[in-house]
Amino acid sequence: MKDAQKSIDTPTPISLEAMRKFSETYAQRTGTFFCVDPSVTAVVIEGLAKHKDEYGAPLCPCRHYHNKKAEVQATYWNCPCVPMRERRECHCMLFLVADNEFSSLKQEITSQTIQSCIG
Ligand code: SF4
Repeated sequence: MKDAQKSIDTPTPISLEAMRKFSETYAQRTGTFFCVDPSVTAVVIEGLAKHKDEYGAPLCPCRHYHNKKAEVQATYWNCPCVPMRERRECHCMLFLVADNEFSSLKQEITSQTIQSCIG
C-alpha cells in the first residue's frame, strides 16, 4: 500500500486562511468566480489546506491518487493545476468561468462562511 499516510481531519487555521486568500486572488487574476453554493468552494479550500499541511503543497482535493507524495512531486495537480493554468478548467468547481451555470459572479468568500460550511 503506497499511500498509507493517514488523512488529517482539520486543516490548520494558517493553511485554511492561506488557501482562502489564494483562491480569492487567483479568481480575480483569472477572471473566474466561485460557485453559487458556497459549501462547494469551502470544501475545496478546506481540502487544499489539508493537503498543504500534510504534503507541503495544495494538491487538488478532487481526485484519487495512489501516491500523494509522488503526485505532489510531479506538480501537475498542485493547485492551480495545469488544466486550470492552461485552459481555465477547474473540475473541482472552485474557479468557474462567468458563463458557467453554477457561477455566482463572486470572487470573495469569508473565513466565517468557510467555517459555517465545513463545521
Ligand atoms: Fe485547483 Fe485544479 Fe483542483 Fe481546481 S481542479 S481546485 S484549479 S487543482
